Amino acid sequence: MASIFGHGLVAYTTAKVIDSKTSTLLLLLAIGCAILPDIDVLAFKLGVPYVHPLGHRGFTHSILFAILWSGLLAFIFGKNRKQIFFIVLFLSTISHGVLDGMTTGGKGVGFFIPFQNSRYFFPWQVIKVSPIGIKQFFSEWGMQVIISELIYIAIPCSIILITLSIAKKKKEWT
Ligand SMILES: [Zn+2]
Repeated sequence: MASIFGHGLVAYTTAKVIDSKTSTLLLLLAIGCAILPDIDVLAFKLGVPYVHPLGHRGFTHSILFAILWSGLLAFIFGKNRKQIFFIVLFLSTISHGVLDGMTTGGKGVGFFIPFQNSRYFFPWQVIKVSPIGIKQFFSEWGMQVIISELIYIAIPCSIILITLSIAKKKKEWT
């Protein structure tokens, strides 16, 4: 994974871009969706191998999982805004796999599980893979993760968010 901060920030930005009137509920759900796929690290504890469809970066990182999960959440929480909930939550969930596919380590992402068990990376593997434990996070390795996420996630997201808020203010003035 990228770090939970990187994943969360991408989801937050996605929600803001797509839905200018984003509610706190949708923002929180979006951030949760972007972090959730890594629940599959539990598979290691259960002895499921990395490359298994249910292993790390497997089914919970797939397109089908993102569709089913965001559909379920949109149905439960979306009320009269189910469609926008679905779009924001789908993009937030799948953004996790997309970021993972741009990291420097681990195995690729199983985007097409259960139809196809291959693992994929994008051609741009620029984000340092984040350590799973807290202790390792506050190490030299963690520092490199933070720097790479600043460059490739935090700065682009900030530029988008600042542009959005300027555009919004301009709209209010006119
Ligand atoms: Zn992941």
